[in-house]
Amino acid sequence: MREEDRASELLRSAKLALERQGHATPALDARLLLQAAAGLTREAMIADPDRPVAADAAARFRTFIDRRLKGEPVSRILGDREFYGRVFTVTPATLDPRPDTETLIDAALTFMPADRPCRFIDLGTGTGAIALTLLAERPLAEAVLTDISPQALAVARANAERLGVMARASFIEASWFAGIEGQFDLILSNPPYIPTAILPTLAPDVQDFDPRSALDGGPDGLGPYREIAARALSFLAPQGRVIVEIGEGQALEIEDIFKAFRLVPESRWKDLAGHVRCLGFTQA
Ligand code: GLN
Repeated sequence: MREEDRASELLRSAKLALERQGHATPALDARLLLQAAAGLTREAMIADPDRPVAADAAARFRTFIDRRLKGEPVSRILGDREFYGRVFTVTPATLDPRPDTETLIDAALTFMPADRPCRFIDLGTGTGAIALTLLAERPLAEAVLTDISPQALAVARANAERLGVMARASFIEASWFAGIEGQFDLILSNPPYIPTAILPTLAPDVQDFDPRSALDGGPDGLGPYREIAARALSFLAPQGRVIVEIGEGQALEIEDIFKAFRLVPESRWKDLAGHVRCLGFTQA
C-alpha cells in the first residue's frame, strides 16, 4: 500500500510546478488549495506541516493544482474569494473582487458615519462585494444592488445571506439607473472600464475567467461612466456623493465626463500601487 502523502511534500512539489510557470504567489496558492482540498484550517497546517493527507484529499489537491497550472485563479477553483476581511462566493457570472476595489470601500466609509443611517446604490454589483461589505461595516445603512446579469444578482443574494445583511439589501436587475427610483446618499460603482481593443492583452486569468461583460467598457473604456454620469444627479440626495472605481490613467477624462453633467470632482483616492483608483463627485 502506498504511504500517505505528507502536507509539506505535496506543497513543495506544487509550489515548484507553479514557480516554473512564473506564478506570482506559488506558496500561497498551493497552501490555500491544500487547505481547501483537505478541509484544514491555516492554523492546523502551520501546527503540523508534515501531517499526513488522505488519498482522496491529495487527489483533489492535484486536480486543483492542474487547474491552477492552466491559469484558473485560486478564487475560481475554490468558489470563494476574500475581500475586505470577509469571504464572498464567486462564480463564472461575477468579476473576482480585487484588492484594488478595497480603495472604494475606504473611500465610501469616510462618508458613512457609523451612527447615522445611509442609503446607497451599487451599480453593477457582481458578487455584491462593495455593497455588502459596506452594509456589514455600517449596521444602519441600506442598499440597492443592481446588475444587468440575473446570474450575478443570484450570487449577490447568496452573499448577502452569507454575511447576514439580507434585510437591508434590495436587488434590482437593471442596466445602470434603468427602473431605479428614489435618492441616494452615495452612488457607487466599479463599472467595466477596459477598452475593448485591450481585452485580448489581459492576463489569461482575467481574460479567460472574468466575465467579459464586467470588463468591457466599450471602444474607449469610458462608456459606462457616460451612462452613469448622465443620470446620477437626479438620483443624488442633496449632500450626496458619487464614487466610482476607475482604470489606470483614466482620472482626467472621467472627471471631464462628470463635469459635463454638473457633478464636481471632489476627491481622488489611490490604490496600494499608487494609481488613482477612485474618484468622488458632489453636486455643483
Ligand atoms: N480591475 C479589473 C482588471 O484590471 C477591471 C475591472 C473593471 O473593469 N471594472 O482586471
